[in-house]
Amino acid sequence: MKSTAISALHVETVKQSRIDQVDFDNLDFGKVFTDHMFVCEYKNGSWQTPTIKPYQSISLDPSASVFHYGQAVFEGMKAYKDAEGQILMFRPEDNLDRINKSAKRMAIPEFPKEYFFEGLEALLKLDTDWIKSGAGNSLYIRPFVIATEAGVRASAAQEYMFFIICSPAQSYYGGEVRVKIEEHFSRAASGGVGYAKAAGNYGGQFYPTQLAAKEGFQQIIWTDAKNHEYVEEAGTMNLFFRINDTLVTGPTSDTILDGITRKSLIELARHNNITIEERPVKVTELVEAAKNGSLKEMFGAGTAAVINPIKGFGFRDERFELEDVPNSYASLFKKQLTDIQYNLDADPFEWRYLVK
Ligand SMILES: *Cc1c(COP(=O)(O)O)cnc(C)c1O
Repeated sequence: MKSTAISALHVETVKQSRIDQVDFDNLDFGKVFTDHMFVCEYKNGSWQTPTIKPYQSISLDPSASVFHYGQAVFEGMKAYKDAEGQILMFRPEDNLDRINKSAKRMAIPEFPKEYFFEGLEALLKLDTDWIKSGAGNSLYIRPFVIATEAGVRASAAQEYMFFIICSPAQSYYGGEVRVKIEEHFSRAASGGVGYAKAAGNYGGQFYPTQLAAKEGFQQIIWTDAKNHEYVEEAGTMNLFFRINDTLVTGPTSDTILDGITRKSLIELARHNNITIEERPVKVTELVEAAKNGSLKEMFGAGTAAVINPIKGFGFRDERFELEDVPNSYASLFKKQLTDIQYNLDADPFEWRYLVK
């Protein structure tokens, strides 16, 4: 019964906020967390009373399944504040659907929608002072689930914890990004977990990314695990190309994650009468386009940075640089998307979600 579940949210607030200790003009991404967190335990076959409590450490048995078998999934989403002080989110139902899709793949029980929204909205209202209005400011929201059952038997756990923690963020500028087309390591394989935001996918990227950094690249372009013939994603962002005036991105699959920014950009492109092609893109096509000058832009798309323009890429021994273009698609999309997110423009797609 929905109503009993909703009214059961248990809230314990902090005695003293930590907000005065935070320098909101110099935030290190994802390092500072708000006063409260949302926690819900799963045991005896069901999700227990959801709670909001002061942000704090947790205590787990060292044999807890998450430490050994990586049964963990997460999401990344944002809340914004408009000029009137209203709290807004961007397509949050899609994040819930995706964490449940990720959970399913990792044999983790799905989380109930009413618990999620009740908890998330109460948390945002409680920590509202941590959400600053103004361009680029947001609250990065990190829901995640971990397997907490004690014991090293290699099978799906019977106990879990679902959390939501929040971190104030400023607009993210990663500097000029150059990427390496990776032909040895893979991010995801057919039949694997690449479409899920499963913790281990990210742990596995750090080492290849460190190696690429030694060659002067900030990020990796992953290619298909089978033949390294098709480009897939840029680090943990979906990848877009502008070839002449056509926007191109790979199709979602087991190995290309279904990004909410990605699908929003596809709709925005149609709205702007920009031709968009969702199709596999060969490495050779990209190299060819860079050589003949038809590759006008490349960018990554994801919640954290929204759009991250890519300045150049390396493939084997060759390096390619992209010239700045007037009327850049990346700039156009970034403006249109953030104007919708910050309630600065109409929202014909009904993407905004008002926290009442
Ligand atoms: C989260 C993520 C994205 C971007 O998804 P958004 O919903 O746009 O934030 C893209 N690729 C990978 C691998 C991701 O983990």
